[in-house]
Amino acid sequence: MSNEQPILEVTGVVVAFGAVVAVNQVSVTVPRGVVCGLIGPNGSGKTTFLGAISRFVPVQGGSIAFEGVDITKSPPYKVSAAGMSRTFQAMHLLDRMTVRENVMAGVDFRLAPRTLVRSWLDVRHALKSQRAAAKLADQALERVGMSGYGDVSPAELPYGMQRRVEIARALAVGPKLLLLDEPVAGMNDEERREISQLVRELRGEGLTQILVEHDLATIHRVCDMAYVLNFGEVIAQGTPAEVVDLPAVREAYLGHASLADSGEFAFPAAVSAEPAEPGHGDDSSKGVNSDAATARP
Ligand code: ADP
Ligand code: MG
Repeated sequence: MSNEQPILEVTGVVVAFGAVVAVNQVSVTVPRGVVCGLIGPNGSGKTTFLGAISRFVPVQGGSIAFEGVDITKSPPYKVSAAGMSRTFQAMHLLDRMTVRENVMAGVDFRLAPRTLVRSWLDVRHALKSQRAAAKLADQALERVGMSGYGDVSPAELPYGMQRRVEIARALAVGPKLLLLDEPVAGMNDEERREISQLVRELRGEGLTQILVEHDLATIHRVCDMAYVLNFGEVIAQGTPAEVVDLPAVREAYLGHASLADSGEFAFPAAVSAEPAEPGHGDDSSKGVNSDAATARP
């Protein structure tokens, strides 16, 4: 186990929308270099949690440290500039812009001139920034296997590719931590596998990721560790294999544990059909204690 500082340390975070406590005293620690799954039934607070740590959503309690720096009170653009980048559960692409321009929207804030364009120098700076942003966008598109699609409208692309464009946009800023909110939702099996592979490749390049996902097979395929939320609270944590075996998790997911035992639970078959991917399960260097699976009452 390494003593390296975790990239993200969330302690007792609370988010309430009026009377609804969407995230209740959630503590999550993400070591550097892992893919951390965040699973739980619909409405369990996963998206709200991502919103809280990326500072899009106000928190009523707790603290969030990113790279050892307290960001609990930081605005989203500062968190983004510090290296935390996210995709959204609902697609946020603009059809009137090209794919490249959509991806550039993710980097513009970093490269745009700080002053209004008043002088020739500013114009030149703006053009240079535009070109630099376009280059970063093209690199990000290439990274998600979509070079050559920069000039088309997202509307012309199949759904799976649109989601890749979103990932490219999040990657274009060169993040240290990538938050993916249900990136494979609505995808067919082949698209799921491709995105899973992309996540594993990015991990291989050292990018830490938090993957919100409903599909347990995908979690098992790509994650080193996972937290389980239910009604806004962490009910379990550990390796994916450990957490899906916990009765509390099965119950939260399926309503009752007996369904899981009756064989109707598709998870084990879906996973065993999958060849093990290189590096998967190799937690030893990542500070993930595989004995650490816990279920909280
Ligand atoms: P998940 O992503 O796990 O499906 P969410 O984080 O979207 O769950 O939602 C958690 C809870 O918070 C739900 O009860 C949801 O209705 C509520 N909620 C989420 N966003 C808002 C909001 N902007 N205003 C009011 N309630 C919200
Ligand atoms: Mg959600």
